Amino acid sequence: MVEKFDVIIAGAGTAGAYASYLLSKAGFRVALLESKSGSELGVKTCGDGLGLHHVERMSRYLTPNPKVFQNEIRGVELISPDERTTLVIKGEGYVLDRFEWGKWLIEEAVRAGVSLFEGHTANGPVLEGGRVVGVLATDRKSGAKREFRAPLTIDATGSPAVLRTKLPGWLIAEPLHPEDVSHAYREIIYSAEPIERPQYIKIYLDMSIAPGGYWWIFPRSDTMLNVGLGVWGVLKQNPRANYEKFILPRFKVRGKYHIGGGFIPTRRPLKSLVGNGILALGDAAAAVNPIHGGGVGQALLTGELSSRVITTAFEMGDFSEDTLWRYNVLYMREWGYRQAQLDVLRLMLQTLDNDDLNFGLSRKILNEEEIYHLAAKGVNLSLVDKFRIALQFMGRPSLFKKLSAAIQYAREIGDIYLAYPEDKRELDKWHWRVVEKYNEFREKIGLGPLP
Ligand SMILES: Cc1cc2nc3c(=O)[nH]c(=O)nc-3n(C[C@H](O)[C@H](O)[C@H](O)COP(=O)(O)OP(=O)(O)OC[C@H]3O[C@@H](n4cnc5c(N)ncnc54)[C@H](O)[C@@H]3O)c2cc1C
Repeated sequence: MVEKFDVIIAGAGTAGAYASYLLSKAGFRVALLESKSGSELGVKTCGDGLGLHHVERMSRYLTPNPKVFQNEIRGVELISPDERTTLVIKGEGYVLDRFEWGKWLIEEAVRAGVSLFEGHTANGPVLEGGRVVGVLATDRKSGAKREFRAPLTIDATGSPAVLRTKLPGWLIAEPLHPEDVSHAYREIIYSAEPIERPQYIKIYLDMSIAPGGYWWIFPRSDTMLNVGLGVWGVLKQNPRANYEKFILPRFKVRGKYHIGGGFIPTRRPLKSLVGNGILALGDAAAAVNPIHGGGVGQALLTGELSSRVITTAFEMGDFSEDTLWRYNVLYMREWGYRQAQLDVLRLMLQTLDNDDLNFGLSRKILNEEEIYHLAAKGVNLSLVDKFRIALQFMGRPSLFKKLSAAIQYAREIGDIYLAYPEDKRELDKWHWRVVEKYNEFREKIGLGPLP
């Protein structure tokens, strides 16, 4: 039997549930397919941190239930590998009760009229005449195959991106290289010893424990702690092994609330987040902050931007890639250019060793406010001047060369993303500029050309 809707969304994580809520509120008939069911709905392995600005933006459309916030955060403690330097970076946010958050979003979607198909795994897109016209799914309980049809389909299946990757030859099918992902593992533990300053999340830079990434403590209270790490995918290291060897022994663990791992896309934006009849959101669209791997805010953002473009597509009665292209443009202008800037910095950071990091943090090459600005918002001009001055007394020319190249190319590459083409036909020319600039930069920091 074929089920018909206006929009089919695969994946009821933050991106899918939020988009389905917004679309249903806008009057569309939405099917939300989710592999998980029952008490597993909304459960997600995550660090659970979310910046206040994301919550404020979301509140324009949907005010979060206070029960989803477990701890109010005032800032970040950034700790050097030798643990002699701690920079305290101000920035408000929350550590979420992530399962409550996930469940609450789905509840709101259902309340708004979304048809939730829990325990339904999307297997792949249905194609007709060169466009996606629906989703083939399996009802996990009965094993029955079901077909869902709609003018528009959304891939919100998280990092595996189950739908968009099954469209070979399409722009939206761009694969993730191991260089473009972080492998993460985390446990939520009950510690016998209260942590100091639980209002601050703690980020430890240490390339031997978390190569190409960092390890963290995100306190849900002074004794309930989300502790984990992310390592650069290209290194093919098992984050759990490093967790158990280096991190867990630091805690007196009374019990564990939840354990789990996953992979996170940490890269520049995909070339395109749309195709005929299909859009990708959240992790499925690689919409993540490449520096810290946070993607809950971007899952919300892509939900919001896509729902605007979908409304226009229905007004026009046109669901082609050309009409949906507007979503690419909105995304690149709003966040994609900053994602690209941060990706440049990410690549540079991944080439540093502990010695460089100890040096950089102890000398405060960047102060707390600048680090906050960089991590949250991207690069601005005053930072470049700061680096020029820093050259005088750094005494580490090779490190300086890498840092200043990163600042320069972050700006240049960000500018290219700001000029993302409004017309699809210009994409190849535009993308060639991206590749050329990336390769110039990569050579300067000792990496080969883009894989
Ligand atoms: C260990 C770890 C720590 C992290 N820490 C943070 C953090 O502190 N802050 C932050 O902002 N981000 C963090 N992230 C990233 C963040 O969790 C993601 O960016 C965010 O959850 C993306 O939301 P999403 O809706 O796109 O994907 P998801 O939350 O992954 O949701 C995808 C949904 O699709 C469902 N699904 C998958 N395949 C199918 C299928 N075939 N059919 C039907 N349903 C399917 C899944 O069950 C899931 O419910 C972390 C990630 C990890 C792995």
